[in-house]
Amino acid sequence: MVDVLIIGAGPAGLSAAIYAQRAGKQAVCLEALTFGGQIVNTPEIENYPGIQKISGFDFAMGLYNQATSLGAEVSYEKAVSIEDSGDVKTVKTESGKEYQAKAVIIATGAKNRHLGIDREEALTGSGVSYCATCDGAFFKGKDVAVNGGGNTALEDALFLSNYCNKVYIIHRRDAFRGEPQNLKAVSDKENVEFVLNSTVVELKGEPKLEKVTVKDKNTGELRDIEVSGLFIAIGQEPDNQGFADIVDLDKAGYVAADESCMTKTPGVFVAGDCRTKQIRQLTTAASDGAVAALAACTYIDTI
Ligand code: NAP
Repeated sequence: MVDVLIIGAGPAGLSAAIYAQRAGKQAVCLEALTFGGQIVNTPEIENYPGIQKISGFDFAMGLYNQATSLGAEVSYEKAVSIEDSGDVKTVKTESGKEYQAKAVIIATGAKNRHLGIDREEALTGSGVSYCATCDGAFFKGKDVAVNGGGNTALEDALFLSNYCNKVYIIHRRDAFRGEPQNLKAVSDKENVEFVLNSTVVELKGEPKLEKVTVKDKNTGELRDIEVSGLFIAIGQEPDNQGFADIVDLDKAGYVAADESCMTKTPGVFVAGDCRTKQIRQLTTAASDGAVAALAACTYIDTI
């Protein structure tokens, strides 16, 4: 029997583990992929209070070391369901294993949104990527495109512009969601071209990506852009369907919770990007982790 079982070992999950361990409870994180979540793909973090600049990987490593040195455990398994039997929650994993816990914190983060167009999956790894930090180096000296208008797209474009020949930023509107500071940094780059009011409608090339066809939203005009790489950065989607019978999900699939990160099921909490909220940042993920863990510890003391 685990005290606090945390589903996910990203910034929210590991922060929860740190707070649970420091409150004297045993915390175990179940992680489907690698610890650190999406932040490991961020080249530089400059907006986490108290740390002027750090790479996403180093930040994740620090969180992991902090949590495990306090006694938290991380087990690499994908949790697929939670069963509520009052004081005991049973979490089942993809491999068929079962964990019993007094409290559960869902901290599953979010996964990359896909365009949903033909050959997107087939060309993933052959020109199509969702992670500039991971795959950008394969495109040194080449022409690439980034699709999206948020901070991820702008940061990816900036990162790629340092060693790619040319970077197109394809965005469906003419205004950006990303911060003005990031927009200015890419606008100042001579090898970045903006393709605005446009959506990617076709991926061409066999067996590797050679061109993307974009459609101008205003004129309907189609244009082929020759690129070896397309970095899709159009936001994230949650992955909470497996828990839909135990928590309320909003229309977009995020877990609904109150300010204490408590869901509708006593003893089941939620933290980080997988939760319904306005601001999804590293700081708010860590903050949720602390709030959820302390609420879980208080809950355990009352059962
Ligand atoms: P995001 O802010 O949700 O932006 C997604 C972008 O993709 C938007 O510009 C959106 O267009 C576009 N988009 C969505 N669906 C699309 C579709 N089907 N086809 C074409 N375009 C589509 O996502 P994000 O950039 O990944 O950022 C996620 C969160 O992490 C944000 O809160 C962001 O601020 C944060 N973040 C922060 C930093 C930082 O602080 N340094 C770095 C990275 C990410 P519209 O604008 O038209 O909706």
